[in-house]
Amino acid sequence: MRSREELVEHLKRSGIRDEKVLKAFLKVLRGEFVPEEEREYAYNDTALPIGYGQTISQPFTIASMLEMLRLERGLKVLEVGTGSGYTAALIYEITKSPVYSVERIPELAERARKTLRRLGYNEIYIFVGDGSGGLPQYAPYDRIIYHAALPKIPSPIIGQLREGGIVVAPIGDLHYQDLVAYEKRGDKLVEIERREGFVFVPVVGKYGFRSYHF
Ligand code: SAM
Repeated sequence: MRSREELVEHLKRSGIRDEKVLKAFLKVLRGEFVPEEEREYAYNDTALPIGYGQTISQPFTIASMLEMLRLERGLKVLEVGTGSGYTAALIYEITKSPVYSVERIPELAERARKTLRRLGYNEIYIFVGDGSGGLPQYAPYDRIIYHAALPKIPSPIIGQLREGGIVVAPIGDLHYQDLVAYEKRGDKLVEIERREGFVFVPVVGKYGFRSYHF
C-alpha cells in the first residue's frame, strides 16, 4: 500500500469499524515513526523493525486494540511499550488528552520522544523503565493498553484504573496471544471482549516474561 488512504480502506475491508480509529489512521503519518530504510513499506499492513529487537506493530493489530479500548475524547490513557511512539500518537488523535507511555529501552524512548515533539504532540509523556506494573504516580487512568505480551494482567493494574475503566493486553505465552479487554467493576477485572490469534514481542520485567532474553 502506498498511502494512508489505501491503508485505511484495507483496515475497513479487514473488519475495523470504529470511525474514530479509522480517522486517526488517516491523520497520523506512520512513515515518520519507522527507520528511513523501512519508509517505503510504512503503509503496508505489516509489522516493521525499529531496532533493539523491537517492532512497530502491524496496523491491523493496533486498530483492533484501539477498537477494543473504546476510546473517547477526554479519556486519560496509559500505554506500556512506547516503541516508535506511533500508537501513542493514534491514541492522542482520538482522546485529545494527555497520554502517558512507558518504554524500557532508553534509546527507543528518546527516539519516540523526539519524533512526537517534532510532529507537535506535546501532551504525550514518555517514561523510561519497567512499565509492566503500570505507572502508579499518574494513576488513575481511564484506559490502559499493553503493547507487548503478558502471561496475565499484573495485579497492580486494578488499583490504577478508574471504575468502569478498560485495560487491553495480549495475553498468552511467548509464541501466541489473544487480545483481551477487561473492564474494572468494583475490585474485579471482568473480561468484556477477546480477539484470538496475535503474536507480540514480550513484556520484559517484573510482571512480564522474566526468563526471556534477547
Ligand atoms: N506501540 C508501539 C508502536 O506503535 O511502535 C509498538 C510497541 S512494541 C510491539 C513493544 C514495546 O514494548 C517494545 O518497544 C518493548 O521494548 C516494550 N516493552 C517490553 N517490556 C516492557 C516493559 N516492561 N516496560 C515498558 N516497555 C516494555
